[in-house]
Amino acid sequence: MREIGHFVGGKEVKGTSGRFGDVFNPNTGEVQARVAYAKHSEVEHAIANAAAAFPAWAATNPQRRARVMFKFLELIHNQFDELARLLSSEHGKTFADSKGDIQRGLEVVEFACGIPHLMKGEFSEGAGPGIDLYSFRQPLGVVAGITPFNFPAMIPLWKCAPAIACGNAFILKPSERDPSVPMRLAELFIKAGLPPGVLNVVNGDKEAVDTILTDPRIQAVGFVGSSPIAEYIYATGTASGKRVQCFGGAKNHMIVMPDADMDQAVDALIGAGYGSAGERCMAVSVAVPVGKKTADTLVQKLIPRVENLKIGPATDPHVDYGPLVTRALLTKVRDYIDIGVKEGAKLLVDGRNFKLQGYENGNFIGGCLFDEVDPDMRIYKEEIFGPVLSVVRAKNYEEAVRLPSENEYGNGVAIFTRDGDTARDFTSRVQVGMVGVNFAIPVPLSYYTFGGWKRSGFGDLNQHGPDSIRFYTKTKTVTARWPSGTKEGAEFVIPTMR
Ligand code: NAD
Repeated sequence: MREIGHFVGGKEVKGTSGRFGDVFNPNTGEVQARVAYAKHSEVEHAIANAAAAFPAWAATNPQRRARVMFKFLELIHNQFDELARLLSSEHGKTFADSKGDIQRGLEVVEFACGIPHLMKGEFSEGAGPGIDLYSFRQPLGVVAGITPFNFPAMIPLWKCAPAIACGNAFILKPSERDPSVPMRLAELFIKAGLPPGVLNVVNGDKEAVDTILTDPRIQAVGFVGSSPIAEYIYATGTASGKRVQCFGGAKNHMIVMPDADMDQAVDALIGAGYGSAGERCMAVSVAVPVGKKTADTLVQKLIPRVENLKIGPATDPHVDYGPLVTRALLTKVRDYIDIGVKEGAKLLVDGRNFKLQGYENGNFIGGCLFDEVDPDMRIYKEEIFGPVLSVVRAKNYEEAVRLPSENEYGNGVAIFTRDGDTARDFTSRVQVGMVGVNFAIPVPLSYYTFGGWKRSGFGDLNQHGPDSIRFYTKTKTVTARWPSGTKEGAEFVIPTMR
């Protein structure tokens, strides 16, 4: 059985805790590898490596740090397909979608290539008599990222690329479900010229995470995952005096106005609701048609499309989506469908009994479509994270704005309409962090920031884009007087520089 260890000091090392987790092939349900779970002392050892590597890396000029990023991009491009296949084999998303996962991560590395410009400070000549005032950014030291299973390339890169480019040393704790790609990314960073110890990967569970959250050498923690864990990480990390940003779960709505291009809206819902088997934090899980006629038309168009989704092994280039990541998630999703039926929602398409010949033990589930879902139902309120779309019928536009605004999550939302006034009003009033206008998955590009509101985001800065530079650095401001020989005697009042 293949064994996945940790990546410390520039190389893979074996785990010594004697604890392991299974890494499955989601297509067949078979265990394909086991991943070591780090114990406290192993994480401490990785942190010590990072702390030792930090001073020299921080002192490396930013253009040389950028060159490592450029070289890393080149190395990834040389083995893009192989990495995508590896990603797909542990996650279960299709090959094309796995390439998208890597691509959206690389775009943040491309952003980080601009670090010499992004780290530039400010300078005010003559802020007072003979006085110049300036500020600049410095890295924090050792920082960490804890990431989820659903984007095993993109999210580790969102975390580590800006942090490292800023001059920090990094500890990555990826998901234990699909750890191979993060390990490969660390290896490629070393090949790209990153000094050993600047990027370390510790695999594991709560024990590894808790060590990261309490070790005084770690200055900042970035987390992405489910909301209950995000809340825990935020509370524990900040109580230890760290800078912490945590991004959590989601319940993303798509509003369909009566004037929307209905075919475009249906295409958008099918892609955004069922792509990657719904295992995306920006997946649309709630469709909100406005008015009875819109709802009836939408539902009638959705039914055959959901019934005809092509589901199969992630290795088949013709499928729309593959299996869920684990049997545990499959059971959870099936349970939610049962709950929805018991709650009285209308299950128009039932994918629970989907079976695929030759893959009977794979984690497959057919697309599910609920109509007449009520905002009090658990299937509306809770994140399912599977290929399940709930239709919540809104009587009018006001109700449609209220639904996502009052939902406890606030990650993404979209409105489909041909009316500019409505789109503008919606964009301004809706209480959600990322908004799409006739665009179902509004994940901003890497030079903007990504972050949800309410229980989708804890902390006050977003990930990637300019906020990532702010999060991974601290500002120092200098007031300097030249020539220093000026003698004014002791000043007992606060300097005002009149
Ligand atoms: P998860 O919360 O189970 O795990 C995330 C990370 O936390 C993993 O590294 C895991 O090992 C660790 N972890 C799990 N339980 C822990 C515990 N009790 N104590 C300490 N650490 C623990 O999430 P997941 O199932 O891997 O990912 C799916 C979730 O991530 C969904 O809720 C999805 O919406 C969310 N997500 C959010 C965003 C975003 O940017 N908002 C992006 C992607 C995914």
